[in-house]
Amino acid sequence: MTSPIALDGVVKEYPGGVRAVDGIDLQIEAGEFFALLGPSGCGKTTLLRSIAGLETITEGTLHIGERDVTSLEPGARDVAMVFQDYALFPHMDVADNIAYPLRIKKVARGERHRVAEQRAERLSLAHLLDRRPGQLSGGQQQRVALARAMAARPQVLLLDEPLSNLDARLRLEARTFLKELQSELGVTTVFVTHDQAEALALADRMAIMQDGRIQQVGTPREVFHDPRTSFVAGFIGSQPMTLLEGTVGEQGVDMLGMTIPTSQLLLPDGTALAPGHPLTVGIRPEYVGFTPVGEAALAPPEGTVSIESEVVSVENLGASVLVSTRRGQERVQAVIPDDRMPQLGQLGRFTLPLPRTLFFDRESGERAWEAAA
Ligand code: ATP
Repeated sequence: MTSPIALDGVVKEYPGGVRAVDGIDLQIEAGEFFALLGPSGCGKTTLLRSIAGLETITEGTLHIGERDVTSLEPGARDVAMVFQDYALFPHMDVADNIAYPLRIKKVARGERHRVAEQRAERLSLAHLLDRRPGQLSGGQQQRVALARAMAARPQVLLLDEPLSNLDARLRLEARTFLKELQSELGVTTVFVTHDQAEALALADRMAIMQDGRIQQVGTPREVFHDPRTSFVAGFIGSQPMTLLEGTVGEQGVDMLGMTIPTSQLLLPDGTALAPGHPLTVGIRPEYVGFTPVGEAALAPPEGTVSIESEVVSVENLGASVLVSTRRGQERVQAVIPDDRMPQLGQLGRFTLPLPRTLFFDRESGERAWEAAA
């Protein structure tokens, strides 16, 4: 049995007046793998702990399934949580640690061990079943804690940075295990991470938080392709989105000494932006083209604008390279295949495709949209 989670107007204010969670409305569906994502201090751990019942919320209500759990003790909520400090039992071996929730539920010994072995297998722990936590590395302890949380099927599974202690390769492997196991068990799972790549890879949907509030809730595709604020645009993506200063002009948007043709720009509430209005213009480096000048005899493709500029840095990304140029204070970047790697100082044409270019109100960070023609 797995349950949805509903948060209505949830506020958590710590003594001294810090509003770590500042009015959250959120519906997490039954069986969903949901990420709370944001920079350090944005309130994601406090929100997770509030769902667990480890923090008493100051305002609002919290439902798990049909039940109002707002004032229930953690033990009465049927949630399992993996903490950053794991909280393993030092005197029990790995098998008994993993099987512990089943022992509490009075599951027969043989069945407990069968489940423990299966979970251990899935998390590459099968060879460690006889060890005590003190004889394990940090990453191994973290996986034991995960296996234990997933041993019994709680209604809700809460994970605080579940993969933070694993080295880069193991982290990628554990991601895949975790995703498979979560979808097999179908348990509503909420996990906290500050790593946008992890959230994109694992989550069905995510909430991106800043200063105790939610900036956007969406699927990985939505937050990547359709960010609602410049904060989300800048936070999501393994290469940060290029964010440039622009101004609403008479014919479109003026930036980098040229004009991007647009129809009228509107904020979500319908406000039209007047000429002179300051904007942030966003474009993902993956969508910016680069052609060395000399090769660039052809006119830029339709639906693009381009600038000619000198390459000031080239970073190797493996199969591709990140090429940067500067215009005054502004930096424009392009990700291109590594076999087209340019030389430093080379002159090139950076091409921005108009349909991929996003506009944000510079002051509020809110996305502005082109009015339908
Ligand atoms: P991190 O990724 O660094 O763990 P986070 O997004 O999980 O950060 P929280 O730990 O939820 O953030 O903290 C949110 C805010 O609440 C921070 O400004 C933090 O300093 C503050 N805070 C957290 N715990 C307490 C506490 N017990 N008393 C007062 N303020 C607190």
